Amino acid sequence: MRTSFIEKLCCPQDKHELELQIFEKDANGNILEGLFTCPECKRYYPIIYGIPIMTPDEYREKALEAPILEKWGLPIEKGKEKFLLG
Ligand SMILES: [Zn+2]
Repeated sequence: MRTSFIEKLCCPQDKHELELQIFEKDANGNILEGLFTCPECKRYYPIIYGIPIMTPDEYREKALEAPILEKWGLPIEKGKEKFLLG
């Protein structure tokens, strides 16, 4: 995932500009693992294997994303439907 692409991303729910944390880059500076967070609605959107997961809540599987968020040491609100940072 390239930096020029990242700058155009905004929250799919409310179109707010997203904040980005980077956890791993490749040799070319492309982001392999990272996390977008929306300062407006507090949703999170992980970047896994260079792909940002930005589909609407109803198409996301929390159980699939939980292990990688735990690996990054991020708090997750367990048992809740929405993808919010706890
Ligand atoms: Zn938002």
